[in-house]
Amino acid sequence: VTIKQPRVPVDRFADLLGPGAVRTGEAAGREFYADESLRAAAVEPAVVLTPANTSEVAEVVRIAATEGWPVTARGAGTGLSGACIPVEGGIVVSFERMADIVEVDLENQVAVVQPGVTLAQLNERLAPTGLVYPVFPGTDSASLGGNAATNAGGMRAVKYGVTRHHVLGLEAVLGTGEVISTGGRYVKTSTGYDLTQLIVGSEGTLALVTEVTVRLHPLLPSTTALLAPFSAIDEVAAVVPRIVASGLQPLVLEYIDKGTMKGLLRMTGMNLGLSATVIGQTEAYLVVVLEGKEESRVEQDCAALATQLYEAGAQDAFYLPPGQAADLLAARENAFWMVKAAGADDLVDMVVPRSRIPEYLRRVQELAKQFGSRVYGCGHAGDGNIHFSVYEPDEQQRSALLSAIYSMGARLGGAISGEHGIGRSKRQYYMDIESPEKLALQRRIKAAFDPAGILNPGCIFTAQTQ
Ligand SMILES: Cc1cc2nc3c(=O)[nH]c(=O)nc-3n(C[C@H](O)[C@H](O)[C@H](O)COP(=O)(O)OP(=O)(O)OC[C@H]3O[C@@H](n4cnc5c(N)ncnc54)[C@H](O)[C@@H]3O)c2cc1C
Repeated sequence: VTIKQPRVPVDRFADLLGPGAVRTGEAAGREFYADESLRAAAVEPAVVLTPANTSEVAEVVRIAATEGWPVTARGAGTGLSGACIPVEGGIVVSFERMADIVEVDLENQVAVVQPGVTLAQLNERLAPTGLVYPVFPGTDSASLGGNAATNAGGMRAVKYGVTRHHVLGLEAVLGTGEVISTGGRYVKTSTGYDLTQLIVGSEGTLALVTEVTVRLHPLLPSTTALLAPFSAIDEVAAVVPRIVASGLQPLVLEYIDKGTMKGLLRMTGMNLGLSATVIGQTEAYLVVVLEGKEESRVEQDCAALATQLYEAGAQDAFYLPPGQAADLLAARENAFWMVKAAGADDLVDMVVPRSRIPEYLRRVQELAKQFGSRVYGCGHAGDGNIHFSVYEPDEQQRSALLSAIYSMGARLGGAISGEHGIGRSKRQYYMDIESPEKLALQRRIKAAFDPAGILNPGCIFTAQTQ
């Protein structure tokens, strides 16, 4: 089927969904043209649809498949890779009206939610239950549907894993309009192909998710945070795999380089009590949070961690009071807004094996120097997933620098995106690096889920080799 630019099919969809669920032009709102990606260009869709239930989603997709109209799912639009940016003149299916928490099942420790439920809403609902959904990508306004579609990660992945490890089941509408249910309220299965996991991380290219069943964990009430400044990047990077291997199971293991920390302190006005001498000698910081059931046990583990940090060359290991720790972690989560305001031109979200972090960090800085660009890093060191903000206004130069970073990281055994996804902004870099056999297989998988090729076309990879 050839993807067509739809004439605005307002009447047809208004009859189906009701006029309030069909918006066009300025009435739809410019927020539907883009996400938070620093690079992907905004695009105007023909129409924004807000179905109220799975049957309506299925009918919309069925019509679109028959007509060859492109359909792009949209959660909260907080994505960082341009994945929910529509095809020009295409259809956006926004899940804002499908935002009910269907059930919190305490016995099976799962929550069943509609895709438009935000992390903030789920967290609020779980607060009195003693259970927690521990996946914590940086912004709690993101939707569970978007989290599933991007396989979102975040700071706590080092202990709990990413969205993929928590999605136990899905209800989803295929590109044909057929509805499937996958998985369930159980934690293991060996029953045919794992369609749940194929859809997780597929960025709306295989199916539209209409319900998500996620795994919950008991809330561990006691947490303590340590801040460790290091004067040598190699030392801070080298201690990360050792902390992970120590068995202390950090909840958070974040890396913040000196440039980023300076910006965060300036942005928030926070005073961490660091002396000017320590700040002057520091190249990068580690923030480590441990959690547990018993406060005394967490304190014991923190003492062992502090010893490990000193032995690895840390200038100090400060216990952060709870308020200050929360402020620093919130500032770290908001680092994206800081780099955006500072005019960053792009973000790199590569993941490498933890043991290769020292080499990766060193080589990124060498490449930045070679290209005459500024590159600052902070991120999920415990997962080998350091985010770099790249300041290089010249497009050609920037693109060459990013290609060089991605190729170098791939040679170290890494992958282009640890958690933000490929979307539209990293598509070409991904297609340049990925093996043709794997791209061809992914196209065949997409064709099986979405024979008309209408679901988020052009996201992750193009339909044809380019
Ligand atoms: C300040 C900030 C910090 C962030 N920190 C992190 C972080 O630490 N870790 C991390 O992983 N991400 C992070 N992100 C990125 C972002 O929050 C995640 O990618 C999130 O999962 C996107 O969810 P969303 O609801 O906004 O999805 P959208 O941006 O709306 O969509 C993302 C993708 O999901 C698809 N999609 C959405 N809903 C559905 C559905 N129901 N069915 C099928 N496909 C769907 C879209 O088509 C698109 O491909 C951050 C973003 C910001 C702005």
